[in-house]
Amino acid sequence: MSTQAAMLKKTFISKFGETKHKQYVFNAPGRVNLIGEHIDYNGGYVLPAALEFGTTLVIRERDDNKIHFASTNIPFEMTMDVQEIGKEKTGEWIDYPIGVMVELRKIGCELTKGYDLFFHGEIPNGAGLSSSASMEVVTAYALLTLEGKETDTVEIACLSQRAENQYVGVNSGIMDQFAVANGKQDHAILLMCDTLEYKHVPFRTGSYKLVIGNTNKRRGLVDSAYNERRQQCEIALELLKKEIPTLNYLAQLQPDQLESLQVHIQDETVRRRAQHVVEENQRVLDSVEALTNHDLEKFGQLMNASHDSLRDLYEVSCVELDVMVEEARRIPGTLGARMTGAGFGGCTVSLVHEESVEQFVQQVGDHYRARTGFEGNFYVCGVGDGVKEIKEEI
Ligand code: ADP
Ligand code: MG
Repeated sequence: MSTQAAMLKKTFISKFGETKHKQYVFNAPGRVNLIGEHIDYNGGYVLPAALEFGTTLVIRERDDNKIHFASTNIPFEMTMDVQEIGKEKTGEWIDYPIGVMVELRKIGCELTKGYDLFFHGEIPNGAGLSSSASMEVVTAYALLTLEGKETDTVEIACLSQRAENQYVGVNSGIMDQFAVANGKQDHAILLMCDTLEYKHVPFRTGSYKLVIGNTNKRRGLVDSAYNERRQQCEIALELLKKEIPTLNYLAQLQPDQLESLQVHIQDETVRRRAQHVVEENQRVLDSVEALTNHDLEKFGQLMNASHDSLRDLYEVSCVELDVMVEEARRIPGTLGARMTGAGFGGCTVSLVHEESVEQFVQQVGDHYRARTGFEGNFYVCGVGDGVKEIKEEI
């Protein structure tokens, strides 16, 4: 067992005391989208990967039928009867695991016992690295395991997404929960969000590391801009459907096809949005080819092109993301750098040679602070596994 899991188990015991019941430890990662931004709702591919850090859950059966929720990250704790679960939203973080319990019940996993749930998250909240999906997925996996049910990770992803959409009330796509549930060490996940077809793509970065930079710029504007982008994509699709009636999604078009059809989109902004979607989808497929051929340089170039397109064509970047990406690319040893997530704040992801990582964190951090007034945080990590039980005894 990792030392961290062992320490958490100890903290759990000092907090809740020993009982006759055993504690179990589960972990679900955070995720980063490597490439394929604003593609999910346009019927194309995304390429997320699970991170090496995430949310750990220590869970233990209780003698009564109460559920107790606690987290090392947020002081709010609560105990409630199993029967009370889902009756009323609390507006607190526990709505995420409660939402999962509500969805578990709908698929026939009634909670038959009470439990103590103790979470510990290593993912910064609200930075776009999916701490929420990580918490949902670890809760679903742990409860299904302890209730003696099957743990189908695709089903877990779907029910976790429903929990976030319907109970918490955040309208997110399936990518986050899917990556967190189905990640695989040293692999990215090529996912078609619409059909949930997926495959693991080798992501062996050798002497290169992923460096995630949190701009710490809160993601303002996201909702209205997101809706506007979706609308513009729909407008483009409707116009192009007149030319190709079988077209269901923008991302089904090849870049050269779009080029010849562009005259049918009069509005220049809408045209640029469509261009981003079609080319970004192609970049995902090109990335898969590059990674399969162990061509990290090519992958780095595609990351750069993705950012530039999000900045110039799709216009979902912001000064903070652009500055961090610009500074990242100045470091010798950086193969590629881009914003990741919906945009207007949140994180960047860069592929950096391990010998340059120290310089990267120092220099990008300093220049970013000087130029924006924000403090950046950097996470150096590899690609880890999806949700799992951490089994060994201490
Ligand atoms: P993101 O998923 O990008 O990190 P969200 O706003 O979707 O951001 O989810 C963050 C929220 O999830 C937190 O504000 C909190 O309510 C909940 N959460 C995530 N991880 C934990 C944790 N370890 N302990 C308590 N709450 C958590
Ligand atoms: Mg989230």
